[in-house]
Amino acid sequence: MQQVLIVAPHPDDDIIGCGGSIAKHRKAGNQVTIMHMTSGDAGGIQYTKEELAALREDEAQKAAEHLSVNNLIFLRIADGYIEFNKENLIRITSIIRDIKPDIVYIPHSQEGNRDHRVTHQLLMEACHRAGTPYFPECGTQPWKVTTILGYEVWTPIQNVDYSEDISEFIEQKLAALQMHLSQLEYYRYDEAIKGLNRYRGIMTTGCDYSECFTLLKITM
Ligand SMILES: [Zn+2]
Repeated sequence: MQQVLIVAPHPDDDIIGCGGSIAKHRKAGNQVTIMHMTSGDAGGIQYTKEELAALREDEAQKAAEHLSVNNLIFLRIADGYIEFNKENLIRITSIIRDIKPDIVYIPHSQEGNRDHRVTHQLLMEACHRAGTPYFPECGTQPWKVTTILGYEVWTPIQNVDYSEDISEFIEQKLAALQMHLSQLEYYRYDEAIKGLNRYRGIMTTGCDYSECFTLLKITM
């Protein structure tokens, strides 16, 4: 059994980037934890930030349930303002040493959204630090993550390193994505993601649907 950590800057990035892979991991009996950096409180202006954060955390819970995941962590960093700083590095490195993931999924480095890029930088550094015999403020047992994969959300990956066949799980993924009603009311990006996964399936492995990744780290 593998420990898998999915890191989402905003609720729904997890499902968009790797919802099918999450369902596949769960079917294989692997443990999955989804960590939400923000609760997406900037994703709309018709609610207060508190109302929207509560609504989107609820949507994230429902989406995760569709993928048989019930381990969720909400860091509740302000949406749009994720910083590469001491506080965030300590929190995230501590979580990695605590959860001990074998595989970590993060946004790929070229995402256009700023929160996505900073999340990428924070996780790359935190995974590195977690494996060292330093930083006792983050826990006293080093943990080396063996695999880090970069997923695509709003900016398609230019050079794909790895493609996962999710044909069997595409309906489950879309059902989970449709739990994010507060976001889908702006535009039907679930249709766009289905199209991207279909394109990836045909153009990479020749299957019906796939999710593509950049390979950021792999060690045996
Ligand atoms: Zn996002």
